[in-house]
Amino acid sequence: MRVPIIAGNWKMNKTPSEARELAASMKDRLLEISSVERVLCPPFIDIPAVAAVVGGTEIGVGAQNLYPEKAGAYTGEISPLMLKELCQYVILGHSERRGYFAETDEFINRKVKSALANGLTPIICVGESLEQYDRGETGRVVSSQVRGVLAGLSTEEVLRVVMAYEPIWAIGTGRAATSEGANQVIGGVVRATIAELVGADVADRVRIQYGGSMNAANALDLLQQPEIDGGLIGGASLKADDFVAIVRAAAEAKG
Ligand code: PEP
Repeated sequence: MRVPIIAGNWKMNKTPSEARELAASMKDRLLEISSVERVLCPPFIDIPAVAAVVGGTEIGVGAQNLYPEKAGAYTGEISPLMLKELCQYVILGHSERRGYFAETDEFINRKVKSALANGLTPIICVGESLEQYDRGETGRVVSSQVRGVLAGLSTEEVLRVVMAYEPIWAIGTGRAATSEGANQVIGGVVRATIAELVGADVADRVRIQYGGSMNAANALDLLQQPEIDGGLIGGASLKADDFVAIVRAAAEAKG
């Protein structure tokens, strides 16, 4: 019922020529797995190179951020108008942006609205820190983030977002959440909070990814969980064989 979606977050890696090569090295194999929505999210400057490789195919291209205005005096920023010529998706609220660049739920919410108004699909990240996890605050923290980033969205708009539950302690650490643990937070907190906002019928249709050290070895176990609709992949998305294997695991788990 919910089409699985696997997105690769390349973070600040790859020059334009390297990005072109990486996209080309996975393109044909990714195109064979049409039951999964496949998205590559390179750095801004690499987007034209990647779009040139996969443009016109079923493989989507996403950015890793945007500034929530159409144009103007915002030195160094990139607007949704610029992105929408080359991208269909944008990652918003990643914990690295929340942490290093002090992004708040309010600011992320502005970005979500701007992405939606310009026809982009936001992939919105939420997740607790290790300290919050250890204190047993995951439910409260994640629920509050979901409310903050989705504030003021209509039902139709909520149906267009993709959520990504990414516990910060699992990102880039090699320590993924257990599949049962991730399933519990995604179903019991993220989807349950969306249900409180817009109703259970709508929440049941929203796709929610897991992210945090998902790799070729653990993907099938995570993706077999009923609440996990896909993955947001960091490190493993930079290796063509691994990323393709994760997309295949999604097809197997949900097929
Ligand atoms: C991410 O940064 O979104 C992520 C999930 O990273 P990794 O897969 O490397 O943990």
